[in-house]
Amino acid sequence: MPITKVSEEELKDQRLFIRRVCAVIHVFDHKPLAYTHSYGCQQNVSDGEKLDGMLADMGFGFTDTPDNADLVLYNTCAVRENAENRVFGNVGALKHLKEKNPDMVIAVCGCMVQQEHIAERMHKRFPYVDLIFGTHVLHKFPELLYSIYEKRKRVVCIPESDGVVAEGLPVRRESSFRASVPIMYGCNNFCTYCVVPKVRGRERSREPESVISEVRGLIEKGYKEILLLGQNVNSYGKGGDVDFPELLRKLDAIDGEFVISFMTSHPRDCSHELIDVIADSRHISHHLHLPVQSGSDRILKLMNRHYDTKRYLDLVQYARSRIADIQLTTDIIVGFPGEQRDDFDKTLELMKAVKYDSAFTFIYSRREGTKAAEMDDPVPDEEKGKWFRELLDVQGAIGEKAYEKYVGMTLRVLCEGRGRTDGKLLTGKSRQNIIVDFVGDDGLLGSFVDVKITKSLPWALVGEVVK
Ligand code: SAH
Ligand code: SF4
Repeated sequence: MPITKVSEEELKDQRLFIRRVCAVIHVFDHKPLAYTHSYGCQQNVSDGEKLDGMLADMGFGFTDTPDNADLVLYNTCAVRENAENRVFGNVGALKHLKEKNPDMVIAVCGCMVQQEHIAERMHKRFPYVDLIFGTHVLHKFPELLYSIYEKRKRVVCIPESDGVVAEGLPVRRESSFRASVPIMYGCNNFCTYCVVPKVRGRERSREPESVISEVRGLIEKGYKEILLLGQNVNSYGKGGDVDFPELLRKLDAIDGEFVISFMTSHPRDCSHELIDVIADSRHISHHLHLPVQSGSDRILKLMNRHYDTKRYLDLVQYARSRIADIQLTTDIIVGFPGEQRDDFDKTLELMKAVKYDSAFTFIYSRREGTKAAEMDDPVPDEEKGKWFRELLDVQGAIGEKAYEKYVGMTLRVLCEGRGRTDGKLLTGKSRQNIIVDFVGDDGLLGSFVDVKITKSLPWALVGEVVK
């Protein structure tokens, strides 16, 4: 599929709008402040860094509360209903602030409002929301914001589209040593429960040269951890010369000390070749997030996942045989329409067989416009809740011991800050993407250190710096 790139002229237009907004807000009697928040996945957080980048270029400062903000921007998630409810609640709570400060601009964007029925509801229910825009016009934020300041009229912009790729947008990164780099956008998998293909458009990959030069630039600037993003990174570059394993090889060839991790790997397309590339690499993280979703082949078929448990277990076995210290994590959905107790039992069996280091578990949430939304869903919520708690217990017991295998190993750790639970300790992430706490001084921040692991906790490791 050809990539629809946003043209250089269009990007130039947006830079012009950036300057126009700059001129408008320049006359304020104070430096205007933006409060922005991105919900949901890393991809959305990465979009949020671009929205922040555009705001910074427009002359905004940032605040960590909506109370004193001149602009509030919520970048929303649609993957489950509770994410949407949270946004409705948070937008509702802005009413009194807008009454106090009618000049405040309120904007809502992202996956949730890319759904027409939600955008309509948002528009009707919250007349004080000024701007609603979808996922395909993120790069047009300066133009949309300018029209709010100029006309003071509400704007809704959610064009239907297969999606575009916009290169070179400004980025305001949250961290000075950890950076996300999207390598592809959208999704063509159409898992029957999932709204992502509907709100994010068709799968499209960035050109390998763009990805490689961005990563190279980040490493030159001192970034130490690069997270490559895509809904299904294994289908990166389909139809082109550089597929995902090849992209990883090229990135791994860059010199320097850094770690490259990626999300998310779909088990259908995850290959032995990919695992070999990780095993033989210098920089690629020994963490594989391989969402299984269910342990029942019948349910996997209904989910349209295109793999069965046999293939999945083969991948796990191969990954563990090639990369002994690999951290393996997963996503699981409980209560998919039509799931029976014996299907759920198979999920429990699979979890016990694989012994994940950790698992992200979700109760199925009905998403309008998906195939699963039309399927019979006879199991009552209470029953699904019971299964969910059972799953948490089983994974809890596995997770309790999962990190024990690292005790005694010396792991190279990127030191990221002071510990959240114990401020006396430094904390960082190992190449396996596991939190490691250790004693050390602030001079180590942002650098790699060897830590001998002395103790394992369910969610972290503790160790001592090897001199
Ligand atoms: N592209 C990624 C994940 C995207 S969404 C992948 O395919 O792995 C992240 C996770 O949310 C999914 O793995 C799934 O477990 C969960 N999820 C997606 N849609 C859901 C729904 N309708 N209800 C409950 N969980 C869902
Ligand atoms: Fe959703 Fe499936 Fe695409 Fe992941 S691969 S984003 S779960 S449709």
